Amino acid sequence: MNISKKEKFSEWFTEIIKEAELGDLRYNVKGFIVNMPWAVMTMKKMYSLYEEELEKNDHLPVWFPAVIPKENFEIEKEHVEGFKAEVFWITKGGDKELEEPLALRPTSETAMYKMFSLWIQGKTDLPLKMYQSTQVWRHETKSTRPFMRGREFHWIESHCAFSTRKEAEDQVLQDMRMTEKIMYQEFCIPFIFFERPEWDKFPGAIHTYAADSLVPDGRIIQQPSTHLLGQNFAKPFNITFLDESGKREPVWQTCYGPAIWRMFASLISINGDDRGLIIPFKLAPYQIVIIPINPKNLDKISKKTEEIKKAVENAGFRIKIDSSAKTPGFKFNQWEMKGVPFRIEIGEKEVDSGEFTLAKRFDGKKIKVKESELVGTIDWLAAEMQEAMLKKADEFFSDKTSTAETIEEFEKALKEKGGFVRIPFCSVEMEGVKCSDALKEKFHADIRGERFDVKEKPKGKKCIICGKEAKHYVYAGRQY
Ligand SMILES: [Zn+2]
Repeated sequence: MNISKKEKFSEWFTEIIKEAELGDLRYNVKGFIVNMPWAVMTMKKMYSLYEEELEKNDHLPVWFPAVIPKENFEIEKEHVEGFKAEVFWITKGGDKELEEPLALRPTSETAMYKMFSLWIQGKTDLPLKMYQSTQVWRHETKSTRPFMRGREFHWIESHCAFSTRKEAEDQVLQDMRMTEKIMYQEFCIPFIFFERPEWDKFPGAIHTYAADSLVPDGRIIQQPSTHLLGQNFAKPFNITFLDESGKREPVWQTCYGPAIWRMFASLISINGDDRGLIIPFKLAPYQIVIIPINPKNLDKISKKTEEIKKAVENAGFRIKIDSSAKTPGFKFNQWEMKGVPFRIEIGEKEVDSGEFTLAKRFDGKKIKVKESELVGTIDWLAAEMQEAMLKKADEFFSDKTSTAETIEEFEKALKEKGGFVRIPFCSVEMEGVKCSDALKEKFHADIRGERFDVKEKPKGKKCIICGKEAKHYVYAGRQY
């Protein structure tokens, strides 16, 4: 590509979507894109790792209707207020007005919880843990960006109900561990979990914990959040169970939303370079590509490449032979752009000697591999690659946090480093919203909240905005 990721991230991101054939933005509805095969193949792998992990943790898959009757939608007041401005409504069937308008789900609480109230009767019906992999639709008024923010996006939403608050709190922690295990360990996307301030919680939640990651220009991108809903939905939706004393009690609930679409945006941004995508080995649609390099002896070469393909496939890897009519140089660039982890070049010489050149996408190095050792080599190269990618992602992330104790220091840190700026702040309760608004107006920066993993209280510090006594250290930055 001709655009540097480091210098012009935004343009780089747009370019890579086109060059690596990830999305076609020419679809003629604003805010909607066509997700192209290479992106879909990668995201399907991402889905499957996440779904497997959810199921290991006893979440069961379910498919709910995409439409939600208006009646359901209006049951929980805060929730309806929070989503009102973004809902697409279906009001007609053919020529006829529908008796009751249907919302295209912007999220599924109000669809699912109506059914939860029928399914949950006694304590033996709990816990109830379900998830669905779906599209949701929101009439976003902010500008849309492929995979980051769209009027249609692809995600997983998990919804749980328990008999005690303690179990619900434990679920929030389990959601955080799944984020670490899959989004970080497998997708190589580093993050920090913040507890969102009172004014920025999910509509209807008691607590919202969100994983914030960064894009290369230092702006913040919100990744999955997990919400302790408490009994805020259970009461109006009448989701109750009979406890030991024969009394009906509302359940305790959580919900968690790993948005695969947006994780894919982070995967592109964090791992990619100026030659294109770099896709973690487990997620790559093709993990190895073979490029025959002497078309004159095609029969001899294709016999060998087919043999290799079979052996590699038998070992459980995904491999593609690119025998298209394009030049080898063109193919090298194209598969590098698409982020295929390993490339094997095979000409007549290689067939005779039984030794190939293998090029590694993540560090650009080439090694010689004997045919008999190919499968074993791929195994350890995959492990080496994952380790190197995590190290690179960590390095990118680690120096993106600074501390500011005055508004001038804050401005400087935001300008020079971006990322997260840790500041003493008056209050994460509603009274702090004025300071948050002031920061947003002046610097286009948001208060992301207190870190979940590191609890620290400022002593004798002042809020950098209003000058009152600071009760918390919060992190602030510019959102993508
Ligand atoms: Zn303040």
